[in-house]
Amino acid sequence: MLAMGPILVLLGAFVFVVGTVVGSFLNVCIYRIPWEKSVIWPGSRCPRCWSPISATDNIPIVSWLALRGECRQCGAPISPRYPLIELLVGLLFLGLYYVDVVHGERGRYGYEIGRPLATLAYHAILVALLVVATFVDYDLFVIPDAITVTGVILGIGLGALNPLIRPDPAAATTHAQGLWVGILGLLVGGGVTQVVRVAGTKAFGREAMGFGDVTLMGMIGAFLGWQAAILSFFAGAFFGLAHALWKLSVYVKKWARAEKLSTADRELPFGPYLSMGAAALVLSWTWLWEDYFRIQFGTLGWLFWRILGVNVPIPN
Ligand SMILES: [Zn+2]
Repeated sequence: MLAMGPILVLLGAFVFVVGTVVGSFLNVCIYRIPWEKSVIWPGSRCPRCWSPISATDNIPIVSWLALRGECRQCGAPISPRYPLIELLVGLLFLGLYYVDVVHGERGRYGYEIGRPLATLAYHAILVALLVVATFVDYDLFVIPDAITVTGVILGIGLGALNPLIRPDPAAATTHAQGLWVGILGLLVGGGVTQVVRVAGTKAFGREAMGFGDVTLMGMIGAFLGWQAAILSFFAGAFFGLAHALWKLSVYVKKWARAEKLSTADRELPFGPYLSMGAAALVLSWTWLWEDYFRIQFGTLGWLFWRILGVNVPIPN
């Protein structure tokens, strides 16, 4: 393991760089997917002067800093959100690398690198989709099916193709079980959200969540399995509630000063919080599951598998 040290550090640096490049591509996706434009063609252009951005001016984070956030041709400001999303994705990928490869249950055995790397790639795909969903929802209050349906297909498909790709307790032994773990995750993730959505709409007399949130949670479940999906939902609700309370204070202040309220004051997209919840779960799952939730879910999980007639080994 000691000899693995420098290799693990180098690999980590590589994963971070890959993350920033992926982040750069996700910036394009965030901007184009809602308008159903191609994310591959044409290449990036300045939104003001329309001049194409050269490859050397398109290096993640570095180019933005070198250009001091301005277009080389016309000097139009380039939003700092672009390099920040690149940095965010780089850091998220690095975090996943630490959890799945360096620390992960399988990573402890330095000789077996294939499985942890597959899990890393699997989680990286999920996180990439979550980042796109987050920023599109934040900008436009919508989560396009192009993101979530693609995610569901990838989550279930890759999980069936490689049943060992999901960490415990969602790891399976056969392709059929891997497929079933994904489908069950989709149903539980989407189902829980739909139930809360319907109840919330009844209670508040207006739509509390969109159907995009349901498909987003379905995607999260397809990737992570039903246990993590339930916990993601609650983690997301907690993050969302914290922000909602803060917003409420702004609301009250504006109301007291008889100021006009903007739509942004009234609306709160839920997608970013569900995504945050899922990302937080993936990054802490090894510890959370081992030290806490394994026991909590033991009984529930046993019942679940029994009722549904599928026996997936549950560690005890
Ligand atoms: Zn320009």
